[in-house]
Amino acid sequence: MAGREFDEKYRYDGNDLGAACTDRRTVFKVWSPVAERIELSLYKDGSSPAYFRKEMQPEEKGIWKLEFEESLHGVYYDYLVRIDGKEKRTADPYAVGCSCNGNRSMAVNLRLTDPPGFESDAAPVKDKEQIIYELHIKDFSYDKESGVPDAYRGKYKAFTVTGTNGDYPTCMEYLKNLGITHVHLLPFFDYASVDEAGGENQYNWGYDPLNFNVPEGSYATDVMDGTVRIRECKEMIQALHANGLRVIMDVVYNHTYKEDSWLQRMVPGYYYRYNEDGSLSDGSACGNDIAAGRSMVDNYIADSVMYWAKEYHLDGFRFDLMGLLTVELMNRIRKELDEEFGEGEKLLYGEPWRADDSPMETGTKAALKANAACLDEGIGFFSDDTRDVIKGHVFEEKEPGFVNGGTDLEAKVLHAVTGWRDGGASVRPKSCGQIINYVSAHDNFTLWDKLVLTMRDGDADFSGRYEDVLAANKLAAFIYFTCQGNLFLQAGEEFARTKYGEDNSYCSMPEVNMLRWRQTVEHKGLVDYYRGLISLRKKLPALCDKSSKAAGRIKEKEVLKEGVVAFRMDNRDDDGDSKWEELFVIYNAASDSYTVSLPEGRWEVLADGREADCCREMSAAGKGISIDGKSGMMLGRKGA
Ligand code: CA
Repeated sequence: MAGREFDEKYRYDGNDLGAACTDRRTVFKVWSPVAERIELSLYKDGSSPAYFRKEMQPEEKGIWKLEFEESLHGVYYDYLVRIDGKEKRTADPYAVGCSCNGNRSMAVNLRLTDPPGFESDAAPVKDKEQIIYELHIKDFSYDKESGVPDAYRGKYKAFTVTGTNGDYPTCMEYLKNLGITHVHLLPFFDYASVDEAGGENQYNWGYDPLNFNVPEGSYATDVMDGTVRIRECKEMIQALHANGLRVIMDVVYNHTYKEDSWLQRMVPGYYYRYNEDGSLSDGSACGNDIAAGRSMVDNYIADSVMYWAKEYHLDGFRFDLMGLLTVELMNRIRKELDEEFGEGEKLLYGEPWRADDSPMETGTKAALKANAACLDEGIGFFSDDTRDVIKGHVFEEKEPGFVNGGTDLEAKVLHAVTGWRDGGASVRPKSCGQIINYVSAHDNFTLWDKLVLTMRDGDADFSGRYEDVLAANKLAAFIYFTCQGNLFLQAGEEFARTKYGEDNSYCSMPEVNMLRWRQTVEHKGLVDYYRGLISLRKKLPALCDKSSKAAGRIKEKEVLKEGVVAFRMDNRDDDGDSKWEELFVIYNAASDSYTVSLPEGRWEVLADGREADCCREMSAAGKGISIDGKSGMMLGRKGA
């Protein structure tokens, strides 16, 4: 089925596949060069028998079409496809709406799904800095203490609720106060592993796509009407925008829930990679790999990204296992988004790795870290180097990093501050703007759990309060917040989020995964510290600079002793002036305090282990200044 010849013969570049529905017409169009016959069935709902059936008309390039001079908005449909004499029923891989649990597609006049005011919805103006907050829709409001009404808990609608300030701010009120700029939502296209008609206590991260262009139903308040999930998903995005936050979608184009997908039923064998022995390749460790690199696979993925960006007003995309996709496809998506929305307007980044090898199409390059030099400068990737040097290896539970007892990491930490632009990692990015700095994400232990595991012996109580762990947490945050590049944190990292030592909670109970809003009070000091780091970061040209020249601002990098490093940064902005001309940063991962002598000039303390975004003047130049054990300090030199 695959092969260059097939690809060239049947490549279809129109972006009208699916069911295009306006108030006067509905046009069904699918692509299947191998089908002998395709029949469309229409249904009143997700379960009753078809009320209408008609054979599709074949056109050029393997396209099948059927046109109606009426609006079929809200009508469900599927296809009976005959290939090699055998018939299979399938939903539409290009569908924009679907039934409960996604087995039938739905024709949707998308304009009828816009919530009031959506046509004028726009992303907030781009901040100087990008601080990305990784959040799961259910985690956000599942906690009863969220203050969100029961009917909306765990749903898209929770984002539209204001006034959840009881004794303390929660949900949207809390996000607004934190200072983050982007909310990155775990997958919310339609995924398969949660029964949408089942109870509220089911849970999944959602990395198992069923309908790529439809929002997930279990986050909607009514799953029996396929338009509700679309409208409520838009309401969520609109609410985030209205509160000053940009929205990033986590997308999983590298595999499908199972091989027997709508894509497979439409054109068997075309959309997946196979080993030489005919077995499915499994570079995703999820049972199958989508064959990015083939023309109609690439068209499908690129069109899907553009669809979400346009129809749902999304501001960026995070690619799961980007290393299974190709450099060519990623660069194409970057280009198409730039042409449509303006250069760099939409953020693009991904995981530059894959779970295992995967047979790529001839002439294509995997979008892996090793091929980063071929990726457009506007495509970012997670820096596992930054993550692991700060807190220790993600899979070696007891292995510490710089802040929690690791040794011989000083030189590496000093490379991390440049976004690895001056070496030290297996890849040198084109600019620090390509680097996503982070120390925790949904995968692996939360930062708190990792620190407890490495700093406590035996049976650790993850709910305990440990001052030394808190100090290490603050130092970890201080370090990546003073590294050049983009910033990313897992929701709740700033209030010591624990999953009680579970490192792979993708289908654990919602109670294990949810944000516990009470913890924002219990760990108010830590939350305030993160808020201070966020606010300070936005004021510092040395760290907001994402250009290839940013690393040149860093000088006099020094290892002062075991566990103690320091560096200085040119902090002038483009006009040559700023409140602080130069920054002096010290990381003290040792247990004891360390005294450094201050360089010439008038210095102010901008952050230390206790507070961030302060402004305390130091008296005389040249005087020594003491940095507490397990803490960082940033000083700013005032201009003349
Ligand atoms: Ca679903």
